[in-house]
Amino acid sequence: MKKDTLLAHAGRAPEKYQGMVNTPVFRTSTVLFPTLEDYEHRGDDQFAGVRYGRYGTPTTQALEEAVAQLEGGHRAVALPSGLAAIVAAIGAFVKTGGHILVADTVYSPTRHFCDARLKPNGVEVEYYDPLIGAGIAKLIRPSTRAVFCESPGSLTFEVQDIPVIGDAAHARGIAVLADNTWGTPYFFPAFARGVDVSIHSATKYIVGHADAMVGLIVANEKHWARVRQTVADYGYSVSPDDCYLALRGFRTLGVRLTHQMQSAIKVANWLKSRPEVKRVIYPALEGDPGHTIWKRDFSGAAALFSFVMNGASDEQVSAFVNALELFGIGSSWGGYESLVVVARAEQHRTATKWNPGGPTIRLHIGLEDSDDLIADLEQAFAQAKQAG
Ligand SMILES: *Cc1c(COP(=O)(O)O)cnc(C)c1O
Repeated sequence: MKKDTLLAHAGRAPEKYQGMVNTPVFRTSTVLFPTLEDYEHRGDDQFAGVRYGRYGTPTTQALEEAVAQLEGGHRAVALPSGLAAIVAAIGAFVKTGGHILVADTVYSPTRHFCDARLKPNGVEVEYYDPLIGAGIAKLIRPSTRAVFCESPGSLTFEVQDIPVIGDAAHARGIAVLADNTWGTPYFFPAFARGVDVSIHSATKYIVGHADAMVGLIVANEKHWARVRQTVADYGYSVSPDDCYLALRGFRTLGVRLTHQMQSAIKVANWLKSRPEVKRVIYPALEGDPGHTIWKRDFSGAAALFSFVMNGASDEQVSAFVNALELFGIGSSWGGYESLVVVARAEQHRTATKWNPGGPTIRLHIGLEDSDDLIADLEQAFAQAKQAG
């Protein structure tokens, strides 16, 4: 089945639920068994079926099955947030005395977790240049437990050569973990590209409506049991209502992503033509440093990109952002609405430098009309000029 057919059909079983198109919301803690013998053998088929609320319900399992199928993984597990998924996935691989390689451009709370929780517990965390490619082989040590990727980085959009990193890691028997939130299971088939464990903030495009927090870990068969057991050991449990919302968002993921990408390319090209803009950073644009690898490995681009303002003062940056009427100022992305933040990437890296010669603005392009978004950016540039 093709991707769009999977979006409509994966994770559905109307015949089990009186013909209902969507898997209903099942809320429970206790699950009752007909006999003592059934109860005592409930864990035989590890994490299949329903046995206790914390291990999932038909609602959470429908989401997990749908996302695993779309991305091409073995199985998936849902968690209460994207960061919870990152923490559990890393926790499945590292232990005291071990070493983990982490892309310097990772989501900053991922970096904070590594620095504040892993390092004091005796795990060696080493940040690497995301553009290292085959050079990753030189950083691998006997104690290395995992290579963590995030491609592209969600502030400055460096595209990693994941197939090459995967080959180097697998040659030494090391797992590749990737935060695939930007790529999504729709645009980046992580498992076909050499990822072993793919992590999503479903809060972003899968939920798609800025109204729930959900994380997902999808693993290949080799690493599934380890990942699933770690999630169980940490005690995570995710709300079936939130999984229902994520599964509802999943059904329209393809049309939203495709439409938002087209608008984002239009807005990005308009920005490129403006004197106020020094540089647009979006792998979907020809000439972007990440474009070649993006084109090889992805089938589309999330509508999240950055641009560098030409010699703007702090006052002008504030005037620009505050003047925007259609772009909300706030964290997250992947919803139907446009957003803006100032990406202060230089504050978050140690292995590489970020010095693009001007302030970096990150935009998320929602489902609004792209001409209205462009007009909004244009009037905000005019207000920024007045503040200069
Ligand atoms: C938002 C985000 C996360 C964290 O997801 P939450 O659901 O907010 O916990 C992780 N990685 C990336 C790239 C993100 O953008």
